[in-house]
Amino acid sequence: MIRDDILALLRVPPETKVRLKDYDSGWAQTEEMKELGKDVIKDRAQEILAENLADLAAVQELLYADNRYAVLMVFQAMDAAGKDGAIKHVMSGVNPQGCQVFSFKKPSDEELDHNFLWRYMKALPERGRIGIFNRSYYEDVLVVKVHPELVERQRLTEDDQGKKFWKRRYEDINAFERHLVRNGTVVLKFFLHVSKEEQRRRFLERLERPEKHWKFSTADLHERGFWKEYVKAYEDALSATSTKWAPWYIVPADHKWITRAVVADVVTSAIRGLDLKYPELNEEQVQAINAAREQLNQE
Ligand code: ATP
Ligand code: MG
Repeated sequence: MIRDDILALLRVPPETKVRLKDYDSGWAQTEEMKELGKDVIKDRAQEILAENLADLAAVQELLYADNRYAVLMVFQAMDAAGKDGAIKHVMSGVNPQGCQVFSFKKPSDEELDHNFLWRYMKALPERGRIGIFNRSYYEDVLVVKVHPELVERQRLTEDDQGKKFWKRRYEDINAFERHLVRNGTVVLKFFLHVSKEEQRRRFLERLERPEKHWKFSTADLHERGFWKEYVKAYEDALSATSTKWAPWYIVPADHKWITRAVVADVVTSAIRGLDLKYPELNEEQVQAINAAREQLNQE
């Protein structure tokens, strides 16, 4: 397990102004980690990931049997920060029946005909399941804030598109998440924090390796041109929506091994922290099981 004091450094406290440059996207979050050195931290991260993957499979089964809670994992990041890889690795040991992944792209005409939370609500995990949002309703205060012309496509009656508009969206998101939490959904939010230099390196790698070409889109390069605007939009969103009930984690993403260890640890501990139990059978059900055993034994 990752030590609480280190996880606390990554968790955004409610009502604080986030400055991303105060968060290290590399592997050395503390002086102590720096002294230990990269190789030691990497080995430790890999051990933590392995331990958690084994535990996650077990706690997920209990989550499913208990059938009262759902877990929603929200992933947001700049392009090439490693969302897909983190999802793939962290969920690798989990029973696919208990888990669902939704990736959100540009909204369709039908989706634009509804309120901005509609398409996400439809994709929420049911009790007993882990739901993963690869991008989420946060896009509506990120890409949409960076490109305000996208707001027009949403055909809102609200004519105030100034500061208040975004403040109201954050409020709506906070209220939505509180509703989910009050009704048995655990909400875990991960911002994969990659540096601009590491993104450049990963884009170049995609361009240099033919088998990775499909992952590259010129749109990604275009969005990279808005890096500063995205940083600002992320800082505003993380500051306004990290709440007691649904905190944000700013996960270092320049090294995949650290990203995966952190995500796996947060989700495993969160599920372990629930009061899960296998359903208890009533007297009638116990008798039915005994009768069934007897019948099969006599065949
Ligand atoms: P990958 O590139 O790894 O396949 P991705 O999540 O980047 O995954 P893309 O199809 O490349 O998928 O990009 C999806 C695009 O849809 C992103 O640019 C994102 O900002 C955009 N998008 C998602 N939600 C919204 C939204 N609500 N409004 C406008 N654009 C959105
Ligand atoms: Mg993309």
